[in-house]
Amino acid sequence: MSDKVMHIASCSFGKDSVATVLLAIEHGEPLDEIVYCEVMFDERISGEIPEHIDFIYNTAIPYFEKHGVKTRVLRSEKHTYVSSFTRQIQRGKHAGKIKSFPLCGMCCIQRDCKLPPLERYKRSLPSGTISYIGIAKDEQERLLRLNSQKVSLLDKYGYTEMEARVLCDRHGLLSPIYEFTDRGGCWFCPNAKEKELRHLYDHHPDLWQRMLDLQALPNKCTELFNRTMRFSDIDFNFRMDDAQMDIFEFIEKEKQQ
Ligand code: SF4
Repeated sequence: MSDKVMHIASCSFGKDSVATVLLAIEHGEPLDEIVYCEVMFDERISGEIPEHIDFIYNTAIPYFEKHGVKTRVLRSEKHTYVSSFTRQIQRGKHAGKIKSFPLCGMCCIQRDCKLPPLERYKRSLPSGTISYIGIAKDEQERLLRLNSQKVSLLDKYGYTEMEARVLCDRHGLLSPIYEFTDRGGCWFCPNAKEKELRHLYDHHPDLWQRMLDLQALPNKCTELFNRTMRFSDIDFNFRMDDAQMDIFEFIEKEKQQ
């Protein structure tokens, strides 16, 4: 049996992890495979915003494959956002209710949909496997948490987060999400910023409607989508914003006539 150490790159296909793979290719660093864990909204719909999942499957994975690096996609066999949302609580004061929205800061989607497939994969790896982690040289606190089996190529080759972004851009591998946000994550994330929710509202009304449908389900453990608002409140606010804009446009047009 070969005693060659295995090298993998954990990749979310955000700028830092994509730049890490680019550096591995550019500098001839050993790399056996890229590992990507995809959270699903339901059986069919990805938890990644459509622009990002399209970038992953149709641009980034084929690019890396062309350069000799395959991507292994992991998914939970049991859970999706919808299955977690609709799961009935069996015990305690909420028994009989459905679990509904994940809590801000204690996201069960991470626990249910991401960790089990990653843990299973980790157990299948030979001991001593080296994992490349996308942490930039200007993220000192995160770098301090690395150990001999977790290596930052961005640090090794002196790349800041900004330089990682430029590197991705130069190769045509900067995810389109950076046009409207500075962070990745599920499109139904309770930590989503207003501009990300607004993007979803404007560009993906079908996904937006799915969230409104979930909000309308009865007997939920919590009505809150994030710390302070129901999803339907956010929807109401966006509709009001648009209506106000329409009024301003109307007044402006009236003045011009
Ligand atoms: S991005 Fe948000 S919803 Fe998705 S797993 Fe992370 S915390 Fe949970």
